[in-house]
Amino acid sequence: MKLSNAAQVVSHYVRANWRWHHLHGAALERYQEQRAQRLLAYVEQHSPFYRQHWAGHDLHNWRHLPTIEKQTMMEHFATFNTRGISKEEAMEVALQAEHSRDFSSNIAGLTVGLSSGTSGHRGLFLVSPQEQAAWAGVIVARVLHRLPRSRVRVAFFLRSNSNLYEEIGGGPIQFRYFDLMTPLNDAVQGLNSFQPHIVLGPPSLLGLLADEQAQAHLGIHLQRLISIAEVLEEQDQRRLQAVFACSVHQIYQCTEGLLAVSCAAGSLHIQEDLVALQFEPVANGPEERVTPIVTDLWRTTQPIVRYRLNDILRLAPAPCTCGSSFRVIAAIEGRNDDLCYFAARTGGKRHFFPDTIRRMILLADARITDYQAVQQRCGQLRIHLAVSPDANFDEVASAVRKSVDETLAQYDCRPAVVQIEEGLLPLPAGTKRRRVQRLAQD
Ligand SMILES: [Zn+2]
Repeated sequence: MKLSNAAQVVSHYVRANWRWHHLHGAALERYQEQRAQRLLAYVEQHSPFYRQHWAGHDLHNWRHLPTIEKQTMMEHFATFNTRGISKEEAMEVALQAEHSRDFSSNIAGLTVGLSSGTSGHRGLFLVSPQEQAAWAGVIVARVLHRLPRSRVRVAFFLRSNSNLYEEIGGGPIQFRYFDLMTPLNDAVQGLNSFQPHIVLGPPSLLGLLADEQAQAHLGIHLQRLISIAEVLEEQDQRRLQAVFACSVHQIYQCTEGLLAVSCAAGSLHIQEDLVALQFEPVANGPEERVTPIVTDLWRTTQPIVRYRLNDILRLAPAPCTCGSSFRVIAAIEGRNDDLCYFAARTGGKRHFFPDTIRRMILLADARITDYQAVQQRCGQLRIHLAVSPDANFDEVASAVRKSVDETLAQYDCRPAVVQIEEGLLPLPAGTKRRRVQRLAQD
């Protein structure tokens, strides 16, 4: 890391710590307002897309500006970013890096990355060295909670690297990056020799590491596990906690920004000094669930202003006991695309959240070790089950069938066409796990 960059990282670290302890209530709102005004003035001047998108709107009333979505961002990529980088240019550099696994190349000094979309719509992101330094400083402040007394070794598993993540090395943190494509045996060997204190990775990978640890192939003594990139389900969190005897925290980050990080008390706080999140209720939801609209208050290279995210969240009703007034996300439940539909008795269809589907399956029988649910059309569901070795699969399957019938009846829906299959679908290397998935839109 260059010295000037290192100084920036440290400066961001210090300021992020200060904001965490001091920004509450009206001060936080004022802070968001100031940052937003500065951001908007810059963006209006340098991003032709936004200038046009906001034409006729009052920028001071920024919380009501028209929203954008991933498709809009990708369609207008060259005029959307403030550096005039074309999508083709950026994509070429990003794809080349993915193939060669060498992530040192950039465009005009900007880091280029590809987001790991589950569908064909991959997002591209551009980050400047200043934004990179800010990210590194903030994430260290928010993940470590306090400066460690001795050196901390952190292992970081990612689908693909980008320059973005190489930044946090040296100083009190020794950081090692593992490519998610690394064969599991190699990763286990690497971890055994590195002996990390903290491991970050998607829960599907952490689950595999837990198997290895349980069989004593892996022998690491962790202070903490941090789940990233996929939905962390309760049953996985409990198992990881049990196997590694440490707390399991989360980072909720996507192409659109660093949205939330677990505090020392384990609550997933929205990073309200970095992003302003607004919420829309999910239509007709029986319980309070929302989807976020994101404004990244810091990034200017690829500005994210009123960006509609597809995720379904549940917010915690009360503030955290840790003292921070940054709001808390009780659960990230999955994506809006993964709502499943069943026919209502009274006509029409009802939607079911991924979390309801999860409970309907997992609570049916304690011998289920893992599951996947795939819906292809309304009123149909294919369930894949992994069961413990001593379990009778037919018994488990009929318990699940009964649970599905009961749940649907409870929500006043007609019986569904349910197929139950033994064994899980393979997860192609490098793809995100989605346990509940709807394939067709209907
Ligand atoms: Zn907290």
